[in-house]
Amino acid sequence: MSAPPELETLYIDNAYIATVDALGNEYSSGHIAVRGNRITAVGKGSAPRGIAGAGYLDGAGCLVTPGLVNTHHHLYQWVTRGLAVDSTLFGWLETLYPIWGRIDADIVRTAATGGLSWLALSGCTMTTDHHYVFPQDGGDVFAATVQAAQRVGLRFHPTRGSMDLGRSQGGLPPDSVVEDIDTILAATEGAIDTYHDSSSDSMLRVGVSPCSPFSVTAELMRKAAELARAKGVRLHTHLCETLDEQEYCRERFSRTPVEYVASLGWLGPDVWFAHAVHLDDASIAQMSATGTGVAHCPTSNARLGSGIARVRDLRNAGVPVGLGVDGAASNEANSLWEELHHAVLFARAKGGPAAMTARQALEIATIGGARVLGRDNEVGSLEVGKLADIAVWRMDTLPHIDISDPITGLVFGSQPPLELLLVNGAAVVQKSRLTTVDADDVAREVRRASQELLSTLGVTA
Ligand code: ZN
Repeated sequence: MSAPPELETLYIDNAYIATVDALGNEYSSGHIAVRGNRITAVGKGSAPRGIAGAGYLDGAGCLVTPGLVNTHHHLYQWVTRGLAVDSTLFGWLETLYPIWGRIDADIVRTAATGGLSWLALSGCTMTTDHHYVFPQDGGDVFAATVQAAQRVGLRFHPTRGSMDLGRSQGGLPPDSVVEDIDTILAATEGAIDTYHDSSSDSMLRVGVSPCSPFSVTAELMRKAAELARAKGVRLHTHLCETLDEQEYCRERFSRTPVEYVASLGWLGPDVWFAHAVHLDDASIAQMSATGTGVAHCPTSNARLGSGIARVRDLRNAGVPVGLGVDGAASNEANSLWEELHHAVLFARAKGGPAAMTARQALEIATIGGARVLGRDNEVGSLEVGKLADIAVWRMDTLPHIDISDPITGLVFGSQPPLELLLVNGAAVVQKSRLTTVDADDVAREVRRASQELLSTLGVTA
């Protein structure tokens, strides 16, 4: 019996396959098969021939890896890049909050489309978003990010962020960009009820994400955790990003940031923190004991001069660690491949050459991120039965030709051309070009949105 056309099998053949499975299986000349949205075979040697209706991609010269997973991002910031470049986190935020207070759904949809398009071109198949600015007359900006993800075609885990601690109450953001608790909780519940899909091949899962200790009240943190657990969704926030934040927590709560959020119910296998740069040993032990995860954002942490996270210590303690772009206004590159590259380089700059191997970096960028987002049974490695989120990197052009190990080439070299990016079995990138949107059109849309936003504030971009 022949398969219906939509379920024809695609074989990627003659490629170097890095499965990133639990045994670290690699095949220097292997194949992988995709049928519908799932991986149906992976192994060494050539793919079977003569199968009616099967399609073949000759992967000679290519490295096949799981798609990269982005565990922290702010897609709306794509239209406010290149501002407050020499500031620390707090100074950068104080410059940008008033600008972000003017965004609306159209601007966010355009910005998110730009950010998601560039993420796809950097090998990303699944991404989160942490959106925490909701101007009163801005329309449904959360829906706008979902629409952008559906247009570009990435697997999407948006989180409904929030801020309720304005400057008049001792917080950092101006009062004009914060919301009240009831509005936040109702909107968050609405976003979950409208969009969250818990099915095993879900393309869309929603999380709950109050912004940070200096922009959110303890009451909101507590109630957000209760809501997320009642709904069975994950919890996310910024934590331990800078020494300023540590000082803020010491002055205001007489606690470390981890002690503070632990007192509010914010540790557990359903929680992950962005950054986690400034951690003492006790905090790492608490996170390990509770299975609390980390979105490691090396480029943003460097761009803002925040520091370098203790990734080796976190992993040695068994803390789940994934990578995050955290942008795009604090990481103008917005490239998830670059996070993979920087993760290994920064780890070694901090801890010597044994601090992280190329394969460990790839693991963090794929199955590590999937684990942080609770999807490691479904994505993050190339195994039969898993969803077909796959990156095919071309390693036989000038930048990578004859680097003796392709994973070393991917991680330490420059970004290889992306021959193919499959998300849920569908091609989103082919031969380094997006199939779902026209990158030039998106660039024009972004320019219009950015200029519209910044011109109203007299900012020159
Ligand atoms: Zn962030």
